[in-house]
Amino acid sequence: MEKVNILIIGAGVIGLAIAEKLSKTSEDVVVVEKEKSFGRHTSSRNSEVIHSGIYYPPGTLKADLCVRGVELLYDYLNAHNIRYRKCGKLVVAVNPEEEVELLHLQNMGRKNGVKGLTLLDSSQCAELEPQIKAFKALSVPSTGIIDTHGFMESLVHQVEKNDGFIVYDMEVTALKKIGNKYRIGFSNGEIFEADLVINSAGLFADKIAEMVGIDTEKHDLKLHWCKGEYFKSSKVKNINKLIYPIPDKISLGIHLSINLAGNCRFGPNAYYVDELDYSINEAHKKDFLNSINKYLDLEEKYLEMDDCGIRPKLQKPNENFRDFYIKEESDKGYHNFINLIGIESPGFTASLAIAEYVSKIIN
Ligand SMILES: Cc1cc2nc3c(=O)[nH]c(=O)nc-3n(C[C@H](O)[C@H](O)[C@H](O)COP(=O)(O)OP(=O)(O)OC[C@H]3O[C@@H](n4cnc5c(N)ncnc54)[C@H](O)[C@@H]3O)c2cc1C
Repeated sequence: MEKVNILIIGAGVIGLAIAEKLSKTSEDVVVVEKEKSFGRHTSSRNSEVIHSGIYYPPGTLKADLCVRGVELLYDYLNAHNIRYRKCGKLVVAVNPEEEVELLHLQNMGRKNGVKGLTLLDSSQCAELEPQIKAFKALSVPSTGIIDTHGFMESLVHQVEKNDGFIVYDMEVTALKKIGNKYRIGFSNGEIFEADLVINSAGLFADKIAEMVGIDTEKHDLKLHWCKGEYFKSSKVKNINKLIYPIPDKISLGIHLSINLAGNCRFGPNAYYVDELDYSINEAHKKDFLNSINKYLDLEEKYLEMDDCGIRPKLQKPNENFRDFYIKEESDKGYHNFINLIGIESPGFTASLAIAEYVSKIIN
C-alpha cells in the first residue's frame, strides 16, 4: 500500500493548480487522474476566456475567486511565458430593455472590484467593432483569452519540479476513512493511504463525495450536467474583442470568441443532460443563428459544428444562482477531506485563487 501525505483527485485545471500551490510547501503531494493525460474533460472543453468577475453576486466565492484569480493568472502567464491576449470584451445590449441588464452587470462588476467598466453607445461600439450591431455595450477591458493547454502543461511542470507526482490511469473507485487517515482504492487494484484528500474530480466530484460517505442528496450537493456546444465560422474575420449577449439564468449566452490564432467561434449553448456524451447536435444550428443574428449578420451556410463541453452545475434546472462549493468536511465527520463541487465557469479563470483558498483552509 502506497502512503501519501496529500492526495488530489483529478488532473483538471483545479487539481493541477492546487497541486502546484501545495507542492511548494508540502512533501508528498500526489494527483491521481483516471485518464491517460491531464485536462481531458471540462478544462479543455471551454471558451478559453479569462473572465473579469462581472456576472456573480458580490460576496460569493465565484465573484471573489474570479477577481483574485484574474490577477494571479495574468501574473503567472507573464512569469511563465504562456500565451494569452488581454483583448477585452463587449457585452452587447440590442434594445433599451437589455440596457437595464447592462447597467446591472456594470454595477455588480464594480461592487466585485472589476476595473475599467465603461458603457458605450452604438457609435462608440461601431468604432471599435464595425460588424457588431449594438444599441449599447459594456466594455470590459480585463477579459482575455488564454492558451489553456499551455497553462495546464506549465502547472504539471511546476508540480513535478516541486517533487509532486501526477499519476494517470488511476481511477478512484473506493474511499474510506479509517481512523484519521483515508484509504483510497483504484480500478487497477492499487490502494493508497492519505492524510488529506482533495476532491477536484470535476463532473464526478459528487460521486467521490458519496464514495467517502457524504449524503449529497441531503446536503444538496448533487451535480447536474449542463452541456454547452460550439459552432465555428471561418467567414467572420477582423473581430478584435469578445462579443457577449446579455446572460440568461443558466449561462452567459451564445457569445463570439476568438482564439489566439484569430479564429472565431460561437457558443456555448446550455441544456441539461444525463450522459457524458461529447457529440454535437447539428439541429441546434438554427438556435445558434437566431442568437448570433441579434448582434452579427451571418448566414447559416457559414456556420459549422465545432466542439462541446459539459458544466458540472449545482444549480438545478430553473433554480437560481449557486456558488462554488469548496469546503473541509470536518463538520460532516470527515476531517482533512476537502470537497470542490460545482466548479463550473469561471473555474478556469479562478483556478489559482481556488488553489490559494484551499491552501488557506489547510493551514
Ligand atoms: C462549455 C464550457 C465553457 C466554459 N468556459 C469557461 C471560460 O471561458 N472561462 C473559465 O474561466 N471557465 C470556463 N468554464 C469552466 C471551466 O472550464 C471549469 O470550471 C474548469 O475547467 C473545471 O476544472 P476541474 O479541474 O474542476 O474539472 P475537469 O477539467 O473536469 O477535471 C476533473 C478531472 O477529474 C478526473 N476524475 C473524475 N473522476 C475521477 C476518478 N474517480 N478518479 C480519478 N480521476 C477522476 C477527470 O478525468 C478530470 O480529468 C467553462 C466550462 C464549460 C463546460
